[in-house]
Order: sequence, then C-alpha cells, then structure tokens
Amino acid sequence: MTRKPQPSFTQLEASLLFCPKCREAMPVRKQLLLILPEGNKFEYRCTTCASTCGEKIEQDDDKPRILM
Ligand SMILES: [Zn+2]
Repeated sequence: MTRKPQPSFTQLEASLLFCPKCREAMPVRKQLLLILPEGNKFEYRCTTCASTCGEKIEQDDDKPRILM
C-alpha cells in the first residue's frame, strides 16, 4: 500500500496567542488532542515553552474517503 504525500498547507497556519508563562502573545503550534464525536479537539501550544495557550474543537465535515 502506497500513500501519496498530501499537501500540508494547513501547517502554514500561524497564529499568535497569549501565553500565560511567557506573558505575551507568542506563536503557537496546533496539535490534535482528542477525536470527539462532535469534532476534533485541538490544542494550541506555545512554540517557546510548550504551555497550552488555548483549545478549539473543529467540526470534521471533510472526512477522507477510502477508495478501494
Ligand atoms: Zn510560552
């Protein structure tokens, strides 16, 4: 089974969130935390100190289809 590399333009999504540890708006990294029935729960972590700066639940309405 071979997989084609998928374009990962979403990784370019850069955002600043207030970090409680750094005490200023820092660039954050989005990480998938949990897969819930209502959507995927993401966590935003500071790229400097790795503290959690925020959470978000995204609806997963673009489910990948498997073609046999
Ligand atoms: Zn930080």
